[in-house]
Amino acid sequence: MTSEVSRRGMLGLGVGATLAIPAMTRAQRPLPPHREQDSVGVAVVGLGKLSEGQILPALKRTKGVHLAALVSGVPEKAKKWATEFGLPDSAIYSYQNFDTIARDPKVQIVYIVLPNAMHADFTVRSFKAGKHVLCEKPMAVTLAEGERMIAAGKAAQKHLMIAYRCLFEPVNVSAMQMMRKGVVGAPRLIKTVMGKQTSLSDPSDAWRLDMAMSGGGALADMGIYGINATRYLLGEEPTEVRAWARTDRNDPRFKTVEDMVAWQMKFPSGAIGEGSSCFSQPGTMAWQAIGTERRLVADPGCFYNGNAVRIVGGKDDDQPRVAEIDHFGNEMNWFADVVRGRAPNVAPGEEGLQDMRIIHAILQSVRDGGATVKTGFGYKRAYDPATVVGIRTAI
Ligand code: NAD
Repeated sequence: MTSEVSRRGMLGLGVGATLAIPAMTRAQRPLPPHREQDSVGVAVVGLGKLSEGQILPALKRTKGVHLAALVSGVPEKAKKWATEFGLPDSAIYSYQNFDTIARDPKVQIVYIVLPNAMHADFTVRSFKAGKHVLCEKPMAVTLAEGERMIAAGKAAQKHLMIAYRCLFEPVNVSAMQMMRKGVVGAPRLIKTVMGKQTSLSDPSDAWRLDMAMSGGGALADMGIYGINATRYLLGEEPTEVRAWARTDRNDPRFKTVEDMVAWQMKFPSGAIGEGSSCFSQPGTMAWQAIGTERRLVADPGCFYNGNAVRIVGGKDDDQPRVAEIDHFGNEMNWFADVVRGRAPNVAPGEEGLQDMRIIHAILQSVRDGGATVKTGFGYKRAYDPATVVGIRTAI
């Protein structure tokens, strides 16, 4: 582990730290901003809502990474962004000529921001081109695709990170630290509610409502945040799940995917995770962690901004004060540090695959009318984000 990594680890709160909420604020001392001189070049693949709305704007401000290329099926859109970033036409690739990116030394990281069914192919092509890969969640549609992506990264000896932005978002990082510190007491129940309204007339929703393209509708798209949050808040893996779906098959949106799925997960500590995902409700990304002494409530807890966590109950009501930061920028900076050997990969392909296995187990339970499905897949996180990811105040 590099000195940078161990320094970060020390800024987190170690497991078993004494329970004293005010000490938490001392642990949230800001990390220094990245150094500009060794910024890493990123190619963004797919210029849809997420890229245009969040990722490209973040890349204008990040110090650790910079935009080096654009990959798009719409040349005019790519040209517009290239002009905005001062990039030459040679930095624009199509999906067809993408493989020639192998000859572009300015690109070290490929960030895949395409519909889920396209993640595996572009990940494998990126590794073949000798690049590191940051891939959006969910990592793929099938477990076989996920395994193929991990194998391709290992064969190429390049890093694969799945873009779980909440692992780099201050509210969620501080919540993980509080959970490890025992602020809620012994964890009993984690509740997560993730959903939004969808419309077939929005192309960005249309593929999400197609099982073959999304791999699981609202569950794969938004429920994954709840599954991931339950796992990172508890710091353990579920041993079994059971789930039910409520879907109106007369609604043209839900011909191939489920609408609302609700699940329960059992954890070795005795804690229970209860979650839901839904594509016919107002935008919601909320969670709460209930322990024997207090509750942590975050609503919103996983939006792009405006997240907040509150400690409810008990005598001590010293609320965490966490500054907002662009967590897409923070996540990209982190991956640049992974590539430079300065930070651990807290969301490798195996982490993405674990969520996919749980998603598939939930869907299995739905098909089996709520039957219990075992999820003891033997996965263990290599690094606990609660202890290695510090809280930054600048990107
Ligand atoms: P989007 O539909 O808005 O963008 C997808 C892009 O892929 C578009 O530019 C589209 O033209 C292109 N594309 C290429 N081939 C396509 C095809 N066959 N069908 C449809 N589009 C095609 O989607 P998005 O919201 O930007 O999501 C992209 C990825 O990012 C998904 O994996 C999604 O799960 C993920 N995502 C993550 C977050 C997050 O917070 N981390 C948020 C939103 C989306």
